[in-house]
Amino acid sequence: MAQPHPRPARTPESRTARWLRGSATDRLRYADMSRRFRSAPWFGAAIGGTKVLASFWYGPWLLVLLVLAAVTMRTAVARSPRSRNPEAVGATAFAALQLNLAVSVALTGGAGSALLPLMTVPVFSQAVCLRPPVFRAGVVGSALLASAAVLAAEALPAAPAVPPAVHLAAFLALLGCLSLAASFLAAADLHARDEAVADPMTGLLNRLSLSARFAEAQRETTRIGVVMCDVDHFKRVNDTYGHDRGDRVLIELAARLRDNLRATDVAYRVGGEEFVLLLPGRDAEAAMRVAERVRRAVAAEPLAGLPVTVSAGVVAAAADDEPLGDLLRRADAALYAAKAAGRDRVLPAA
Ligand code: GH3
Ligand code: MG
Ligand code: MG
Repeated sequence: MAQPHPRPARTPESRTARWLRGSATDRLRYADMSRRFRSAPWFGAAIGGTKVLASFWYGPWLLVLLVLAAVTMRTAVARSPRSRNPEAVGATAFAALQLNLAVSVALTGGAGSALLPLMTVPVFSQAVCLRPPVFRAGVVGSALLASAAVLAAEALPAAPAVPPAVHLAAFLALLGCLSLAASFLAAADLHARDEAVADPMTGLLNRLSLSARFAEAQRETTRIGVVMCDVDHFKRVNDTYGHDRGDRVLIELAARLRDNLRATDVAYRVGGEEFVLLLPGRDAEAAMRVAERVRRAVAAEPLAGLPVTVSAGVVAAAADDEPLGDLLRRADAALYAAKAAGRDRVLPAA
């Protein structure tokens, strides 16, 4: 079939563009972190404020460099979302801002300049967004630029001395910007950790957090009950009513599991339609009671408008240090027996 609107051929990417961009994960991180950054014009305000104060002693020409830096930032922020290579836009803006600062440092006394410490700020803002090798290149580049600025200042006429207040302002700007960069990293780190342990569809915790919580429970108690649940004939739900309806069943099932557990008993989604209940402090009998209560609660009322049942296999840790894998294998064998015995039932491990 003829294509009415053929896609325009894309120009091949340069090696530098690919190096700046990195992997898919690097790209996701860049997009996420630059989004966080856009909500923080404080970096510009901190550096700009210091330059405005310093210009009273060094001279109003410093404001020209400040305006140039502001235009660089505005252009980068405006271009980035529309660019095919936002990382290149970011890296170019970074290089331009460092060059701007280096010129300011050279013209304000070099090593003695109150503005020299501010050259760390763009480096740290890039550490938050750009991928590690690009960041390292930025550190080396910044060190070279700062050295060149200090050397150049030696050949220039001596800069006026500034009062301690200007040095203090530069220090406070530096402190504020570094703290802000660190807080972005901390927020992103927490967000990533939350995402790594939760199942996005049902909101239940996943297999990774089951292992972590199990290790914790083993330190707290010798009695740990484990229930392995599986939805009966779930394939039929998908085949008859569609995958979306199947998803809704799983979402409502997760809510029902949660509603029927006490706070210390936690449900985990460990597979497509498989769930583990971790029951710290419960022996085999107590775990059987919990599993039976949950099974009844599921069968009692429809989920997403459909009658649903679950089968479960139940175990309790036989020794203080029984590995989770062994417990799950024994629970799985009991679950298999429950399926073979006709489903909609709970069986203890042999
Ligand atoms: P049994 O009673 O023996 O457990 O039968 P079953 O049909 O439930 O077992 P089986 O393991 O054969 O099928 C599980 C089905 O679960 C297959 C898969 O398509 C479906 N499934 C897995 N994950 C999801 C999901 O996230 N959403 C939906 N809608 N279906 C899923
Ligand atoms: Mg299954
Ligand atoms: Mg099943």
